[in-house]
Amino acid sequence: MMSAISAGAQQARGHRWAIVLHGGAGVIERSSMTPEREAEYRAGLKRAIEAGAAVLDKGGSSMDAIEAAIRILEDDPNFNAGKGAVFAADGTNQLDAAIMDGATLRAGAVADVTRTRHPISLARAVMEKSPHVLLVGPGADEFSKYAGLEQVDPSYFFTERRWESLVKQLDKEHLPVPPRPQGAPPAPKQPLAEVEAPEVHKYGTVGVVALDRAGDIAAGTSTGGTQAKRWGRVGDSPLIGAGTYASNQSCAVSATGTGEYFIRLTVARTVCALVQYKGMKLQAAADEVIHHDLEALHGDGGVIAITPDGQMAWSFNTPGMFRAKLAEGGKLEMGIYGDEP
Ligand code: ASP
Repeated sequence: MMSAISAGAQQARGHRWAIVLHGGAGVIERSSMTPEREAEYRAGLKRAIEAGAAVLDKGGSSMDAIEAAIRILEDDPNFNAGKGAVFAADGTNQLDAAIMDGATLRAGAVADVTRTRHPISLARAVMEKSPHVLLVGPGADEFSKYAGLEQVDPSYFFTERRWESLVKQLDKEHLPVPPRPQGAPPAPKQPLAEVEAPEVHKYGTVGVVALDRAGDIAAGTSTGGTQAKRWGRVGDSPLIGAGTYASNQSCAVSATGTGEYFIRLTVARTVCALVQYKGMKLQAAADEVIHHDLEALHGDGGVIAITPDGQMAWSFNTPGMFRAKLAEGGKLEMGIYGDEP
Protein backbone atom coordinates (compact mmCIF):
# COMPACT_ATOMS: atom_id res chain seq x y z
CA MET A 1 0.00 0.00 0.00
CA MET A 2 1.23 3.50 -0.78
CA SER A 3 2.28 5.56 2.23
CA ALA A 4 1.12 9.16 2.71
CA ILE A 5 4.73 10.24 2.13
CA SER A 6 5.10 8.45 -1.19
CA ALA A 7 1.65 9.66 -2.34
CA GLY A 8 2.76 13.23 -1.55
CA ALA A 9 6.07 12.71 -3.30
CA GLN A 10 4.28 11.44 -6.39
CA GLN A 11 2.15 14.55 -6.55
CA ALA A 12 5.23 16.71 -6.16
CA ARG A 13 7.11 15.05 -9.01
CA GLY A 14 4.21 15.04 -11.47
CA HIS A 15 4.94 11.57 -12.84
CA ARG A 16 4.28 8.27 -11.17
CA TRP A 17 6.90 6.15 -12.87
CA ALA A 18 10.27 6.83 -14.45
CA ILE A 19 13.21 4.94 -15.88
CA VAL A 20 16.81 5.81 -16.76
CA LEU A 21 19.19 3.57 -18.66
CA HIS A 22 22.84 3.52 -19.74
CA GLY A 23 24.67 1.47 -22.34
CA GLY A 24 28.19 2.21 -21.15
CA ALA A 25 30.54 5.19 -21.03
CA GLY A 26 33.85 5.78 -22.75
CA VAL A 27 35.62 7.35 -25.69
CA ILE A 28 32.48 7.60 -27.79
CA GLU A 29 32.95 10.35 -30.37
CA ARG A 30 31.21 11.30 -33.58
CA SER A 31 34.47 10.83 -35.49
CA SER A 32 34.63 7.14 -34.53
CA MET A 33 30.95 6.33 -35.20
CA THR A 34 29.28 5.60 -38.54
CA PRO A 35 25.69 6.85 -39.01
CA GLU A 36 24.50 3.22 -39.33
CA ARG A 37 26.15 2.19 -36.11
CA GLU A 38 24.83 5.21 -34.26
CA ALA A 39 21.31 4.42 -35.49
CA GLU A 40 21.69 0.83 -34.24
CA TYR A 41 22.75 2.02 -30.79
CA ARG A 42 19.89 4.48 -30.57
CA ALA A 43 17.39 1.83 -31.70
CA GLY A 44 18.74 -0.59 -29.10
CA LEU A 45 18.46 1.95 -26.29
CA LYS A 46 14.92 2.85 -27.40
CA ARG A 47 13.77 -0.78 -27.55
CA ALA A 48 15.09 -1.43 -24.07
CA ILE A 49 13.72 1.68 -22.38
CA GLU A 50 10.33 1.22 -24.00
CA ALA A 51 10.17 -2.36 -22.72
CA GLY A 52 10.94 -1.18 -19.19
CA ALA A 53 8.49 1.71 -19.47
CA ALA A 54 5.71 -0.62 -20.64
CA VAL A 55 6.16 -2.70 -17.48
CA LEU A 56 6.01 0.40 -15.28
CA ASP A 57 3.05 1.90 -17.11
CA LYS A 58 1.02 -1.26 -16.50
CA GLY A 59 1.76 -0.99 -12.78
CA GLY A 60 4.61 -3.51 -12.80
CA SER A 61 7.46 -3.27 -10.29
CA SER A 62 10.73 -1.42 -10.78
CA MET A 63 12.50 -4.80 -10.43
CA ASP A 64 10.47 -6.26 -13.32
CA ALA A 65 11.09 -3.17 -15.46
CA ILE A 66 14.84 -3.38 -14.90
CA GLU A 67 15.00 -7.06 -15.71
CA ALA A 68 12.90 -6.59 -18.88
CA ALA A 69 15.02 -3.70 -20.16
CA ILE A 70 18.37 -5.32 -19.36
CA ARG A 71 17.41 -8.63 -20.98
CA ILE A 72 16.89 -6.75 -24.24
CA LEU A 73 20.29 -5.09 -24.00
CA GLU A 74 21.88 -8.45 -23.11
CA ASP A 75 20.51 -9.85 -26.37
CA ASP A 76 21.79 -6.88 -28.38
CA PRO A 77 25.33 -7.61 -29.70
CA ASN A 78 26.19 -3.91 -29.72
CA PHE A 79 26.42 -3.78 -25.94
CA ASN A 80 29.02 -5.31 -23.66
CA ALA A 81 26.58 -7.54 -21.77
CA GLY A 82 25.23 -11.00 -22.60
CA LYS A 83 25.63 -11.53 -26.38
CA GLY A 84 28.22 -8.95 -27.41
CA ALA A 85 30.22 -9.14 -24.18
CA VAL A 86 33.93 -8.41 -24.49
CA PHE A 87 36.45 -11.24 -24.22
CA ALA A 88 38.80 -11.89 -21.34
CA ALA A 89 42.48 -12.42 -22.26
CA ASP A 90 42.00 -16.22 -22.24
CA GLY A 91 39.37 -15.97 -25.00
CA THR A 92 36.32 -16.61 -22.81
CA ASN A 93 33.36 -14.33 -22.06
CA GLN A 94 33.02 -13.87 -18.29
CA LEU A 95 29.78 -12.11 -17.38
CA ASP A 96 28.91 -10.08 -14.28
CA ALA A 97 25.52 -8.70 -13.17
CA ALA A 98 23.70 -7.32 -10.12
CA ILE A 99 20.23 -6.19 -9.16
CA MET A 100 19.02 -4.44 -6.00
CA ASP A 101 15.53 -3.73 -4.69
CA GLY A 102 15.35 -0.35 -2.95
CA ALA A 103 12.18 -1.22 -1.02
CA THR A 104 13.69 -4.15 0.88
CA LEU A 105 17.46 -3.69 0.38
CA ARG A 106 17.56 -7.24 -0.95
CA ALA A 107 20.13 -7.79 -3.66
CA GLY A 108 21.56 -10.50 -5.91
CA ALA A 109 24.69 -10.63 -8.01
CA VAL A 110 26.89 -12.93 -10.08
CA ALA A 111 30.44 -12.70 -11.38
CA ASP A 112 32.36 -14.69 -13.99
CA VAL A 113 29.41 -16.67 -15.33
CA THR A 114 29.78 -18.28 -18.73
CA ARG A 115 26.60 -20.14 -19.64
CA THR A 116 23.55 -18.07 -18.69
CA ARG A 117 21.92 -16.22 -21.57
CA HIS A 118 20.57 -13.48 -19.26
CA PRO A 119 22.93 -12.80 -16.35
CA ILE A 120 20.56 -10.16 -14.93
CA SER A 121 17.91 -12.85 -14.42
CA LEU A 122 20.52 -15.00 -12.70
CA ALA A 123 21.36 -12.09 -10.36
CA ARG A 124 17.68 -11.81 -9.56
CA ALA A 125 17.44 -15.56 -8.94
CA VAL A 126 20.35 -15.31 -6.48
CA MET A 127 18.33 -12.69 -4.61
CA GLU A 128 15.04 -14.55 -4.72
CA LYS A 129 16.00 -18.23 -4.66
CA SER A 130 19.17 -18.37 -2.55
CA PRO A 131 20.11 -17.04 0.88
CA HIS A 132 23.13 -15.27 -0.67
CA VAL A 133 23.94 -11.98 -2.36
CA LEU A 134 26.91 -12.82 -4.61
CA LEU A 135 27.80 -16.07 -6.40
CA VAL A 136 30.86 -16.45 -8.64
CA GLY A 137 32.31 -18.71 -11.33
CA PRO A 138 31.40 -22.39 -11.71
CA GLY A 139 29.23 -22.28 -8.58
CA ALA A 140 27.13 -19.50 -10.07
CA ASP A 141 26.86 -21.43 -13.36
CA GLU A 142 25.69 -24.44 -11.37
CA PHE A 143 23.12 -22.41 -9.45
CA SER A 144 21.83 -21.05 -12.77
CA LYS A 145 20.86 -24.57 -13.89
CA TYR A 146 19.28 -25.26 -10.52
CA ALA A 147 17.26 -22.02 -10.80
CA GLY A 148 15.97 -23.15 -14.21
CA LEU A 149 17.44 -20.30 -16.25
CA GLU A 150 18.12 -20.55 -19.97
CA GLN A 151 21.54 -22.14 -20.55
CA VAL A 152 23.65 -21.54 -23.65
CA ASP A 153 26.93 -22.88 -24.94
CA PRO A 154 29.70 -20.37 -24.12
CA SER A 155 30.16 -19.85 -27.88
CA TYR A 156 26.72 -18.17 -27.93
CA PHE A 157 28.43 -15.03 -26.60
CA PHE A 158 31.00 -14.95 -29.43
CA THR A 159 30.89 -11.96 -31.78
CA GLU A 160 33.46 -11.34 -34.50
CA ARG A 161 33.73 -7.68 -33.64
CA ARG A 162 34.66 -8.31 -30.00
CA TRP A 163 37.03 -11.10 -30.97
CA GLU A 164 38.98 -8.95 -33.40
CA SER A 165 39.08 -6.17 -30.86
CA LEU A 166 40.57 -8.58 -28.29
CA VAL A 167 43.20 -9.81 -30.74
CA LYS A 168 44.19 -6.21 -31.53
CA GLN A 169 44.56 -5.37 -27.86
CA LEU A 170 46.55 -8.50 -27.00
CA ASP A 171 48.87 -7.87 -29.96
CA LYS A 172 49.41 -4.30 -28.85
CA GLU A 173 50.18 -5.41 -25.30
CA HIS A 174 52.44 -8.23 -26.53
CA LEU A 175 50.29 -10.83 -24.81
CA PRO A 176 49.62 -14.29 -26.26
CA VAL A 177 46.50 -14.58 -28.41
CA PRO A 178 44.38 -17.61 -27.37
CA PRO A 179 43.00 -19.95 -30.03
CA ARG A 180 39.70 -18.96 -31.61
CA PRO A 181 37.03 -20.31 -29.23
CA GLN A 182 35.43 -23.69 -29.90
CA GLY A 183 32.05 -23.37 -31.49
CA ALA A 184 32.77 -19.91 -32.93
CA PRO A 185 31.84 -19.43 -36.59
CA PRO A 186 34.74 -19.75 -39.04
CA ALA A 187 36.96 -16.67 -39.26
CA PRO A 188 35.93 -14.29 -42.05
CA LYS A 189 38.31 -14.04 -45.04
CA GLN A 190 38.79 -10.33 -44.40
CA PRO A 191 38.97 -8.81 -40.91
CA LEU A 192 35.96 -6.62 -40.13
CA ALA A 193 36.35 -3.10 -41.46
CA GLU A 194 35.12 -1.54 -38.31
CA VAL A 195 36.61 -2.68 -35.02
CA GLU A 196 37.19 -0.30 -32.15
CA ALA A 197 40.74 0.59 -31.35
CA PRO A 198 41.75 -1.12 -28.10
CA GLU A 199 41.71 2.12 -26.16
CA VAL A 200 37.99 2.63 -26.78
CA HIS A 201 36.98 -0.78 -25.51
CA LYS A 202 35.64 0.45 -22.23
CA TYR A 203 32.02 0.90 -23.14
CA GLY A 204 28.89 -1.08 -23.61
CA THR A 205 28.10 -2.16 -20.05
CA VAL A 206 24.37 -1.74 -19.47
CA GLY A 207 22.42 -0.52 -16.46
CA VAL A 208 18.91 0.56 -15.58
CA VAL A 209 17.33 2.37 -12.61
CA ALA A 210 13.56 2.66 -12.25
CA LEU A 211 10.77 4.05 -10.10
CA ASP A 212 7.40 2.29 -10.13
CA ARG A 213 3.87 3.46 -9.36
CA ALA A 214 4.14 2.07 -5.82
CA GLY A 215 7.01 4.52 -5.19
CA ASP A 216 9.71 1.82 -5.09
CA ILE A 217 13.07 2.17 -6.83
CA ALA A 218 15.59 -0.45 -7.98
CA ALA A 219 18.87 -0.70 -9.89
CA GLY A 220 20.48 -3.31 -12.15
CA THR A 221 23.73 -3.62 -14.10
CA SER A 222 25.08 -6.25 -16.52
CA THR A 223 28.48 -6.45 -18.22
CA GLY A 224 31.20 -8.52 -19.78
CA GLY A 225 33.64 -6.42 -17.73
CA THR A 226 36.78 -4.94 -19.26
CA GLN A 227 38.30 -6.40 -22.42
CA ALA A 228 41.36 -8.65 -21.98
CA LYS A 229 40.81 -8.91 -18.24
CA ARG A 230 42.92 -11.57 -16.56
CA TRP A 231 43.23 -13.66 -13.43
CA GLY A 232 39.53 -13.77 -12.56
CA ARG A 233 39.29 -9.98 -12.46
CA VAL A 234 35.87 -8.73 -11.28
CA GLY A 235 34.77 -5.12 -11.74
CA ASP A 236 32.33 -2.90 -9.90
CA SER A 237 29.14 -3.92 -11.70
CA PRO A 238 28.27 -6.96 -9.54
CA LEU A 239 29.51 -5.37 -6.31
CA ILE A 240 26.67 -3.90 -4.30
CA GLY A 241 27.56 -0.34 -3.33
CA ALA A 242 30.21 0.04 -6.06
CA GLY A 243 28.51 -0.34 -9.45
CA THR A 244 24.96 -1.01 -8.32
CA TYR A 245 22.90 0.22 -5.35
CA ALA A 246 19.28 1.00 -4.46
CA SER A 247 17.51 2.15 -1.32
CA ASN A 248 14.10 3.83 -1.02
CA GLN A 249 15.77 5.98 1.68
CA SER A 250 17.92 7.72 -0.91
CA CYS A 251 18.34 6.63 -4.53
CA ALA A 252 19.11 3.90 -7.03
CA VAL A 253 22.34 3.99 -9.06
CA SER A 254 23.97 1.99 -11.84
CA ALA A 255 27.54 2.82 -12.84
CA THR A 256 29.80 2.24 -15.82
CA GLY A 257 33.48 2.92 -16.32
CA THR A 258 36.80 1.49 -15.20
CA GLY A 259 35.51 -0.63 -12.34
CA GLU A 260 38.61 -0.46 -10.17
CA TYR A 261 37.94 3.22 -9.39
CA PHE A 262 34.26 2.63 -8.76
CA ILE A 263 35.07 -0.15 -6.29
CA ARG A 264 37.58 1.99 -4.39
CA LEU A 265 35.12 4.89 -4.17
CA THR A 266 32.00 2.76 -3.56
CA VAL A 267 30.52 5.11 -6.14
CA ALA A 268 26.89 3.96 -6.18
CA ARG A 269 26.51 3.96 -2.41
CA THR A 270 28.36 7.25 -2.05
CA VAL A 271 25.94 9.03 -4.41
CA CYS A 272 23.07 7.69 -2.29
CA ALA A 273 24.80 8.62 0.97
CA LEU A 274 25.12 12.24 -0.21
CA VAL A 275 21.38 12.27 -0.93
CA GLN A 276 20.49 10.53 2.33
CA TYR A 277 22.77 12.21 4.86
CA LYS A 278 23.61 15.53 3.23
CA GLY A 279 20.18 16.11 1.71
CA MET A 280 21.75 16.83 -1.67
CA LYS A 281 19.71 16.89 -4.88
CA LEU A 282 20.36 13.81 -6.97
CA GLN A 283 22.11 15.58 -9.87
CA ALA A 284 24.41 17.45 -7.50
CA ALA A 285 25.27 14.24 -5.63
CA ALA A 286 26.03 12.36 -8.86
CA ASP A 287 28.16 15.25 -10.18
CA GLU A 288 30.05 15.49 -6.90
CA VAL A 289 31.11 11.84 -7.02
CA ILE A 290 31.90 11.76 -10.76
CA HIS A 291 33.45 15.19 -11.28
CA HIS A 292 35.16 15.48 -7.90
CA ASP A 293 35.90 12.11 -6.29
CA LEU A 294 36.35 10.04 -9.47
CA GLU A 295 38.35 12.72 -11.24
CA ALA A 296 40.61 13.15 -8.23
CA LEU A 297 41.66 9.52 -8.72
CA HIS A 298 41.89 10.01 -12.52
CA GLY A 299 39.11 7.47 -12.94
CA ASP A 300 36.70 7.47 -15.86
CA GLY A 301 33.05 6.61 -16.30
CA GLY A 302 29.58 7.65 -15.27
CA VAL A 303 26.37 6.89 -13.42
CA ILE A 304 22.63 7.00 -13.91
CA ALA A 305 20.39 7.52 -10.88
CA ILE A 306 16.80 7.97 -9.71
CA THR A 307 15.06 8.85 -6.42
CA PRO A 308 11.70 7.77 -4.98
CA ASP A 309 10.46 11.35 -5.50
CA GLY A 310 11.18 11.07 -9.21
CA GLN A 311 14.46 12.96 -9.66
CA MET A 312 16.48 11.49 -12.52
CA ALA A 313 20.16 12.12 -13.18
CA TRP A 314 23.14 11.10 -15.25
CA SER A 315 26.70 12.24 -14.89
CA PHE A 316 29.90 11.14 -16.68
CA ASN A 317 33.43 12.41 -17.25
CA THR A 318 34.12 10.43 -20.43
CA PRO A 319 33.62 11.90 -23.94
CA GLY A 320 30.32 10.01 -24.18
CA MET A 321 27.85 7.70 -22.48
CA PHE A 322 24.97 5.84 -24.12
CA ARG A 323 21.95 6.97 -22.12
CA ALA A 324 18.19 7.44 -22.15
CA LYS A 325 15.41 8.46 -19.78
CA LEU A 326 11.64 8.45 -19.82
CA ALA A 327 8.96 9.33 -17.25
CA GLU A 328 5.21 8.92 -17.28
CA GLY A 329 3.67 11.48 -19.64
CA GLY A 330 7.11 12.73 -20.74
CA LYS A 331 9.21 12.52 -23.89
CA LEU A 332 12.02 10.05 -24.43
CA GLU A 333 15.39 11.76 -23.93
CA MET A 334 18.41 10.05 -25.37
CA GLY A 335 22.10 10.91 -25.76
CA ILE A 336 25.40 9.39 -26.80
CA TYR A 337 27.94 12.22 -26.97
CA GLY A 338 29.02 14.61 -24.25
CA ASP A 339 27.59 17.67 -26.01
CA GLU A 340 24.00 16.39 -26.01
CA PRO A 341 21.75 17.55 -23.16
N1 ASP B 1 32.42 -1.10 -14.97
C1 ASP B 1 32.67 -2.27 -15.80
C2 ASP B 1 33.80 -3.06 -15.19
O1 ASP B 1 34.76 -2.47 -14.74
C3 ASP B 1 33.03 -1.95 -17.20
C4 ASP B 1 32.24 -0.85 -17.87
O2 ASP B 1 31.35 -0.27 -17.27
O3 ASP B 1 32.47 -0.59 -19.06
O4 ASP B 1 33.75 -4.26 -15.22
